[in-house]
Amino acid sequence: MNQKEMDCKSAKKLIPVFLKQRLSGSQITKFTDHMEKCAQCKEELTIQYLATEGINHLENGTSFNLDKELSAFIKAAASARKSRVKKRILFAAYETVALLIIFGIYVYVYGF
Ligand SMILES: [Zn+2]
Repeated sequence: MNQKEMDCKSAKKLIPVFLKQRLSGSQITKFTDHMEKCAQCKEELTIQYLATEGINHLENGTSFNLDKELSAFIKAAASARKSRVKKRILFAAYETVALLIIFGIYVYVYGF
């Protein structure tokens, strides 16, 4: 097995953490990758998701589409991860521009 891939034991341990949205970015990627491939862990995730989210829905009296909502939850987690990466790249770009401006001002004021 690829070392970078998550095994079932650690995936199952992370299910409650995932549902509380407390996984770190790299953990989310490994976790959702594992859930896509492993039916057993997906089933466990579904049960725990139902236990936490389903109760809220029962209390609110709203209808509940388990499959749809769980896959939306996983997608949201995965895309939150992607947008965090995008923000980091954007920040690095701003930093480079800021440095160029500072350098430009320095050259303008003091010359070479
Ligand atoms: Zn598994």
